[in-house]
Amino acid sequence: MTQNLQNAINKASRVKCSVKLQGGRSYTVITPEAHRYTVRFEEVDGQRFGRCNCKAGAARMACFHLIPAALVDTAIRRMAAQVARERSAM
Ligand SMILES: [Zn+2]
Repeated sequence: MTQNLQNAINKASRVKCSVKLQGGRSYTVITPEAHRYTVRFEEVDGQRFGRCNCKAGAARMACFHLIPAALVDTAIRRMAAQVARERSAM
């Protein structure tokens, strides 16, 4: 894990952001200061990549906005997989 990403995780555990689903795999991350950023995820070769439109994200750095968005993205994808499994079992 890069130091950059570790710093992002540390900051995300201190600063509680709320996450709103925009649709698809885009999320709005709202900081306690009411700043809003858009985080988008894409899958490349089975690996998830996130991009944020904040200053750090634009410089391709791992920012702490990615962390809460990734947690929500993971939860949604798990639920979607569960629904797909239940449907195929019917
Ligand atoms: Zn960001």
